[in-house]
Amino acid sequence: MSMKKIEMVDLRSQYERLKADIDSAVSGVISSTAFIKGPDVRLFEEELQRYLGIRNVIACANGTDALQIAMMALGLRAGDEVITTNFTFIATVEVIELLGLKVILVDPDPGTFNISIEAIEKAITPRTKAIVPVHLFGQCADMEPLMELAGRHGIHVIEDVAQATGTEYRFIDGTVKKAGAMGTIGCTSFFPSKNLGCYGDGGALFTDNDELAALIRSITNHGMKVRYYHDTVGVNSRLDTIQAAILRVKLRHLDDFNEARQKAAAHYDRELSGLRGITVPVRAANSTHIFHQYTLRIDGGERNSLRECLENEGIPSMIYYPVPLHMQKAYAHLGYRADDFPVTARLTGEVLSLPMHTELDDEQLSYITGCIRSKFN
Ligand SMILES: *Cc1c(COP(=O)(O)O)cnc(C)c1O
Repeated sequence: MSMKKIEMVDLRSQYERLKADIDSAVSGVISSTAFIKGPDVRLFEEELQRYLGIRNVIACANGTDALQIAMMALGLRAGDEVITTNFTFIATVEVIELLGLKVILVDPDPGTFNISIEAIEKAITPRTKAIVPVHLFGQCADMEPLMELAGRHGIHVIEDVAQATGTEYRFIDGTVKKAGAMGTIGCTSFFPSKNLGCYGDGGALFTDNDELAALIRSITNHGMKVRYYHDTVGVNSRLDTIQAAILRVKLRHLDDFNEARQKAAAHYDRELSGLRGITVPVRAANSTHIFHQYTLRIDGGERNSLRECLENEGIPSMIYYPVPLHMQKAYAHLGYRADDFPVTARLTGEVLSLPMHTELDDEQLSYITGCIRSKFN
């Protein structure tokens, strides 16, 4: 039998495995015709609350909306400064910009790829109102010193959990918390390729603060608590019932999904660590890693040629992210210079993400690592 085609993300094979449950969840919603705000939405929110160990989950239309709604709910005003990492997906800074807030970018830590706490500390001013750590590629930013720093300055923390639903962070006293359950508000995405993904767009906000949760819920629904009475400026950002029903099925498998990713990552680690010029992902001491991406660093300018080599062998790979935010055309007005962020610049030239999903088998993994080893030893 020939090897199954290698995909960057294999949504089809996962669906085939869950088909009976997914199909019945979807057709249940269709027969009920409760397409908006059907019972599955609230049930999903409650199930995710229990999974995360948090008091409130509010579903919304996508992860980008979740970030925007979080900043609206915290009452951030034009000119307020929001600090975030320069090494992330554009959504994180887009909403800061859209709300007229001031984007303050900082470099990540070159090991974990996550926002550098020292860099945040240097960027804080009296106008700083929020910090947005992104738990990049499935691993938590260093939340204990970050929360301590934010607390000292009275700054809100909005966690971007889009790549890390299910990741756990361990505090020095042994307390373990899920990503998104540590900051003022956690924001996630259920885009199909995320660790917990639906079959369209979806997102959610998490918070332990009940008052804030009520405000968030009203903002997602045109700023109303009582129908047609609008207390705050809101948006229309809801999770479809069909997506909620799919997510209820998939949430039951989330720990297994994340374990399957960790198993694939362990295979990559075993075969690729120690090769000259290749650095396998650095594991933070106090966070689990659920490998939204498995991202290598390739030095000596060999990254692009490795990518081509893999492509010729039928192996997809991706560069997350090829252009740092401060070099994007849309953000030229921020006034940063090319050499303001040496860590991001270096990572941009070195990172390469390998196929990572829940359905990779040993044959595929050995084929991928075999190709890389033959080029690198
Ligand atoms: C995917 C992603 C988002 C945005 O989520 P959408 O649901 O696509 O809007 C935000 N931040 C990060 C880090 C992401 O990876």
